[in-house]
Order: sequence, then structure tokens, then C-alpha cells
Amino acid sequence: MTRRIQKNPRDRVENGSWRSSPRPVDWPARVQQVKTRDRVCQWIEHGRICGSGQDLEVDHIGDPADHDLSNLRLLCKPHHTQRTNAQKVAGIRAYHAKRRRQRTEEAHPGLIGDT
Ligand SMILES: [Zn+2]
Repeated sequence: MTRRIQKNPRDRVENGSWRSSPRPVDWPARVQQVKTRDRVCQWIEHGRICGSGQDLEVDHIGDPADHDLSNLRLLCKPHHTQRTNAQKVAGIRAYHAKRRRQRTEEAHPGLIGDT
């Protein structure tokens, strides 16, 4: 079983390959920084922040390969799972859209949920 690993984390990730985007060596430190900054789940639903302080995980707001602190936020596990599944679905959807029309606008992961 061979797996292609991207050499440069700054390379744009193709639709569907978000799962394999490598993490920087200082990832644990970044996780700590995001936790210190956000403290609670940042998920916004119906205009209100979730605010849960349990089972918190770091989520990529936009580009999954962009590990900049500005692209990271804290989400509780249920919301992170919900979002990860949405990204997966969006990846599959984008893949098929790409096959239908050769040129397609890449769906921004941050906009998922508006459909
Ligand atoms: Zn939450």
C-alpha cells in the first residue's frame, strides 16, 4: 500500500485529498495556541456560538493545507465531525462536478452548509 505524500504543505490540495494534507512539525504547539486563543467551540449556528468546552479539536476553516493560526479554530468533537463529513461530501461533489464540466469553481470549504 503506497501513499503519495505532498512534499510541500503549501501546495494547493486537489479536491478530495484533504485527508492526506501533511501537518507541520509544530502542529502540537499550534493546537495549544488555538486552544488558548479560542477556549471554547467556535461553531456558529443560528447566529449563536456553540461555546462548548468539552472534547475540543482544531479545525481548518478554509484550505485544509493551510495551517496558519488564522485558518484554524476550535470546535467541539460533534461539530468537528459534522464539519469533516461535510468536507468529505463536498470533495466528492466537487470531483463529480469536475468530471461533468472540465472547468469548475472549487467550492470553498467554509461555505459548506449554504446549499
Ligand atoms: Zn460545538
